[in-house]
Amino acid sequence: MIKGAIFFLLVMAAIGMIGNAIAPGSVGRMVRKRLPKAARCGRCGRYVLGKTGCDCGKG
Ligand SMILES: [Zn+2]
Repeated sequence: MIKGAIFFLLVMAAIGMIGNAIAPGSVGRMVRKRLPKAARCGRCGRYVLGKTGCDCGKG
């Protein structure tokens, strides 16, 4: 049981090192891709949520 746990930890460490060596910083880039730059209203500068536009242009 202990041997298995140590082996598992070694494998995980090796995978982490290999991943870092192949693509350093790729995880951070992936996270940033998932969070695109928030769209802002051209008039008031507030963040626009959704595709309907800002409230300042509706009234
Ligand atoms: Zn606006």
